[in-house]
Amino acid sequence: MNFRMNYHVHTLWSDGDNTVMEVVMAAEGALDEIAITDHLVIKPDGSQEPYSIPIGRIGQYLREIESMETEVKVLKGLEVDYFPGSERRIEGLLKELDLDIVIGSVHFVDMVPIDKSDEFWAGKSQREVDEIYRRYYELVEMASSSGLFDVIGHLDLPKKFGRKSSIFPENLLESLEFVEINTSGLRYPANEVYPSESICRELAQNKVKFTVGTDAHSVHHITFGLDKAEKLLKDISGEKIIFRNRNALPI
Ligand SMILES: [Zn+2]
Ligand SMILES: [Zn+2]
Repeated sequence: MNFRMNYHVHTLWSDGDNTVMEVVMAAEGALDEIAITDHLVIKPDGSQEPYSIPIGRIGQYLREIESMETEVKVLKGLEVDYFPGSERRIEGLLKELDLDIVIGSVHFVDMVPIDKSDEFWAGKSQREVDEIYRRYYELVEMASSSGLFDVIGHLDLPKKFGRKSSIFPENLLESLEFVEINTSGLRYPANEVYPSESICRELAQNKVKFTVGTDAHSVHHITFGLDKAEKLLKDISGEKIIFRNRNALPI
């Protein structure tokens, strides 16, 4: 049987609706592995978003994940925001932590969250939209080249509210090694997984390997869209990988 993974799950430790235990119980029997990847947001000035795990509580978070005794394998992860200027702070913090996987994500472009509400996108011309994509991908390239993260999260996130763009910088392909197929775009006006099928195809041709995640914020999202992600991977002959102690391994 196909190996069933969900490597992108939020809990009450950040902006999810459920406890680690509830999420793990929902995965039991439905998945082989899940990674709990709550948000860690540290801005260049050291401040944190209210929904982020406070730095001082990460140890407790990891111990709670470790204490799960279940059939489904539960990995210790984080989804960490990339900001230029935060690299050294993040590097220092991550090297002290015993983690299986770190997703690197860009949610802020010039310190404005682009995925919070469609109001940000309202009234913007296609030229302005293209410019946001260009700037966003610049940050993703910096995140990817920084070496701080294991997997890049929701690669074409700006499309979330349906504002699409054909901009995709070719040099980005060269810096990417591991990318997630994130099914949460299917829950929003974008109505497709991140990244799009055509980007996934290009990535696969460039030997990029994939994890799969639903970006679950509730137990109801634990297997959301995973069949579509699997079908896509098959169509593009994409290779899935797993993680242990921040090392990628073949399944
Ligand atoms: Zn995210
Ligand atoms: Zn997420």
